[in-house]
Amino acid sequence: MITDDIPRSAPARGSGLPPSLTPALLARLTARVTAAADAAKVTTNAPYTGAPLADLPVSTPADVDDAFARARAAQVGWAAVPVRERKKILLRFHDLVLERQDEVLDLMQAESGKTRRDAFLEVTDIAITARYYARNAARLLSPKRRRGAIPLLTRTAELRHPKGVVAIVSPWNYPLSMAAGDALPALMAGNAVVQKPDTQTAGTALWALDLMREAGLPPGVWQMVVGRGSSIGGALMDNADYMMFTGSTATGRQIARDAGERLIGSSLELGGKNAMLVLDDADIDRAVDGAIAACFPSAGQLCVSVERLYVADAVHDRFVAEFAARTGKLRMGAAYDYSQDVGSLTNPAQLETVTAHVDDAVAKGATVLAGGRARPDLGPLFYEPTILTDVTPDMTLYENETFGPVVSIYRFSDVDEAIARANATSYGLNASVWTRNGVRGRAVAARLRAGTVNVNEAFAAAWGSIDAPMGGMGDSGLGRRHGADGILKYTEPQTVAHQRIQGFNPPTGVSHETWAVVLTSALKVLKAIGSR
Ligand code: NAD
Repeated sequence: MITDDIPRSAPARGSGLPPSLTPALLARLTARVTAAADAAKVTTNAPYTGAPLADLPVSTPADVDDAFARARAAQVGWAAVPVRERKKILLRFHDLVLERQDEVLDLMQAESGKTRRDAFLEVTDIAITARYYARNAARLLSPKRRRGAIPLLTRTAELRHPKGVVAIVSPWNYPLSMAAGDALPALMAGNAVVQKPDTQTAGTALWALDLMREAGLPPGVWQMVVGRGSSIGGALMDNADYMMFTGSTATGRQIARDAGERLIGSSLELGGKNAMLVLDDADIDRAVDGAIAACFPSAGQLCVSVERLYVADAVHDRFVAEFAARTGKLRMGAAYDYSQDVGSLTNPAQLETVTAHVDDAVAKGATVLAGGRARPDLGPLFYEPTILTDVTPDMTLYENETFGPVVSIYRFSDVDEAIARANATSYGLNASVWTRNGVRGRAVAARLRAGTVNVNEAFAAAWGSIDAPMGGMGDSGLGRRHGADGILKYTEPQTVAHQRIQGFNPPTGVSHETWAVVLTSALKVLKAIGSR
């Protein structure tokens, strides 16, 4: 039967990209890269098929200097735009993201190889972030009265000024969330931004910039450059007033060293080896659902995903049997619709790491309960969701981040032991605890050394609590995104204290000795009356 209902989304086959990704759209986006007209080009490939996706201009260090010069000029006007006007732009952006979601879902899937449901999480995340900073920035940024040096006589206020031009290096794994999620609060605080999205997923970041321009952001305030860290990372650091970085711990350390040399602030969200604890009173069905949601989103290429699962003796066998059975039934494949549970890895380096980690573990005696192999029949970068047991410290993946769909299960007999083992890592990003007893769950959570801990959720409860700080302890990073920290880090605090009538010097005619006695008495009185 012939029908007019042409499905919008169709499984990707051959080099097939979804129809929304027209050459005109890709050209409009790539034109937003700050680069010379005759810039060299880099071609990205779609992970689902390996087929060419986009040709992006490559920025040089001189282009980065130019982007900063333009951003610096634009920032002055932008900082003068009242916060209530900036708020309107963010709220318009919020609406546009939701209206145009199909386009960016297609783009994210094409660039990263993730499933549509994983891409949709990013749309949700950006809507929440835009709404939160639009509605809360005025309160967070407004001048705050502070207690003065001398009660009644010193009027003190804390002001917040934008840093100036913020550099953001954003990764490929959550290309919309990470690119726009860190830029929106920086912009809302009155900064300009020069951003280097990962080349593989630059189109998604450029899409967000394009939409912000449509929402009313003035030209020049948000710029994108494309290129390798080794080529343009130095120029970014040399020009930045603040550096926001998401990526590996190794690069994060280098960024922190360079930022220290320049005496600028930096915020780093790095790797993790996140633990999930299934306690003896956990609801097993719910915990199995949770483990699938925790271990395999975006094929495990998520900083807060779980790679270590500790299961109490009492529920171990049932949990493991159900988890392995359900994992084996997950639908994996390339489709620009909501039909798949697990998508592709994003780049060949990730496939190499995942394969090397699993092969090493198996060679040293690990048991594969599910998955354990690449699936070239589905696409060049697919790897099955994989569950391992009998994992020992001599295996590479025991303590190193795989950043793939691979989880190791360990058995424990008491909670103290589970907490100690979960904490026995240099990382400290995210964790989750599963129990029917909320009080117990929250108590265990507080003993885990991780920046976010979820009780009866994988990661979305803490991540989605946008009013609360999110970030890593230890080797997982420095600084926080979300909440007040997520915007105030992009500001310089300034204290303005106005001294009225009498200052700290003795009044005319009073000796320093007498004045010391008066002040000593005043200090005693202030303490006695409970003054803070
Ligand atoms: P990476 O740290 O090597 O690179 C991240 C980004 O930093 C890239 O865009 C790179 O061009 C840029 N960069 C490198 N040196 C720089 C410099 N001196 N100045 C400025 N920018 C610089 O990470 P990757 O190659 O994308 O991925 C490798 C590993 O990093 C992954 O396997 C994973 O473990 C981790 N990672 C973590 C996250 C996260 O969300 N925390 C995201 C992506 C990758």
